[in-house]
Amino acid sequence: MRFRSTRRQAPPVGLSDALAHGLAPDGGLYVPTRWPQLDVRLLRGLALQEAACLVLAPFFAGDRLERELGAIAERAFSFPIPLSPLEDGAVLELFHGPTAAFKDVGARFLAGCLERTGVSRRTVLVATSGDTGSAVAAALEGSQRVDVGILFPIAGVSRAQRHLLSCWRDNVRCFAVRGTFDDCQRLLKTALAGGWGGEGELTTANSINIARLLPQTVYYAVAASRYSEEHGAAPDFLVPTGNLGNATACLWAKRMGLPIGRVVLVTNENRTIADYLATGSWRPRAPTRTLANAMDVGDPSNMQRVLDLYPALPDLLRDVESVVVSDAEIRQTIAAGPARRGRVWDPHTATAVRALERQGGGHRIVVATAHAAKFPDVVEPLIDGAVKVAPALQALLARPARAVEIEPGLDALDHAWRSEAEGR
Ligand SMILES: *Cc1c(COP(=O)(O)O)cnc(C)c1O
Repeated sequence: MRFRSTRRQAPPVGLSDALAHGLAPDGGLYVPTRWPQLDVRLLRGLALQEAACLVLAPFFAGDRLERELGAIAERAFSFPIPLSPLEDGAVLELFHGPTAAFKDVGARFLAGCLERTGVSRRTVLVATSGDTGSAVAAALEGSQRVDVGILFPIAGVSRAQRHLLSCWRDNVRCFAVRGTFDDCQRLLKTALAGGWGGEGELTTANSINIARLLPQTVYYAVAASRYSEEHGAAPDFLVPTGNLGNATACLWAKRMGLPIGRVVLVTNENRTIADYLATGSWRPRAPTRTLANAMDVGDPSNMQRVLDLYPALPDLLRDVESVVVSDAEIRQTIAAGPARRGRVWDPHTATAVRALERQGGGHRIVVATAHAAKFPDVVEPLIDGAVKVAPALQALLARPARAVEIEPGLDALDHAWRSEAEGR
């Protein structure tokens, strides 16, 4: 299998090269050159790790990572991803990993790939304002071959998030950047452009990396297989959406022939996607802050991949719809969760639950992207009680946290990186 750029101005590459570079040299995003078709019956009765090998084998074919797929899948899919019933649908719980958000799946899969590509030393730099940084750190802490640097905006994260971005040790360095998330991203781009890489070859791990998206197709494939077997119908998926990575993976699973109905792109008040579907004109804008902050994206980068999959708007509208959910609705949905359904939703999942309640009926699966315990500041006042913390998260919250404050410049990063190394 080869991967080509969405801009089609760069030569196609194999999987290892696509994941090591993240972005194609022409500035486009890598996509598979063809879509293998999967017979859903083959998935029945398979464990998640076995299903991952089946779904992903065609994408690894011919690459130097081909023989490693089993080990990579075993490491990435090491926690349960249950599909649990709701009275009016079902919920796919993606939050049972070490950092309690769906990003654990992609981060652990990418980590497994990076450790096995044969490069002796790598540095992974992540600019993050939330769940990606902690998922990548958890996936690579203790690695002998990959060093990790986390850049997060000092004022742009909640207390709980800051802790989860700063509680890492050994080969993971945490930097609180005196600036915004955009400053962090700019610093990352400067490092990439300038060939900076600590002691190793520099790679990024943001959500445009193909090795994060591919494993996300697996849980959609498995859930669609299980649901269609039980209910005799292809379910719709309601996906809390920011950068459109998770929803793109769902569309890819559908393109591979799996029984998936419509993909509902549920956003917070950042309505770039909704406006595009309504008008056909793509108008990215600056992000607005909302309670579902991991979805505060005004220019979703994976839109390039969606448009590549659906060059014609009418085709896209056949498979996709969008729902916009306000902060007031997020609050109501969280507050009503315990009495109405016996469940505590996090602010991101709450957007999809609200979309389900607004639309009603049919065969619908809510995609639960994070555990409520990651967002106690928002959730606890609304449910008037404490959220039960998942055991894995408890261990992380009990760790000491330490981040080095830096100015948003490459010199500052380089200096702090070196003095961190000496301090070990
Ligand atoms: C990242 C994230 C999202 C948005 O996912 P995208 O792939 O960027 O669309 C939704 N919910 C949570 C909890 C997240 O961390």
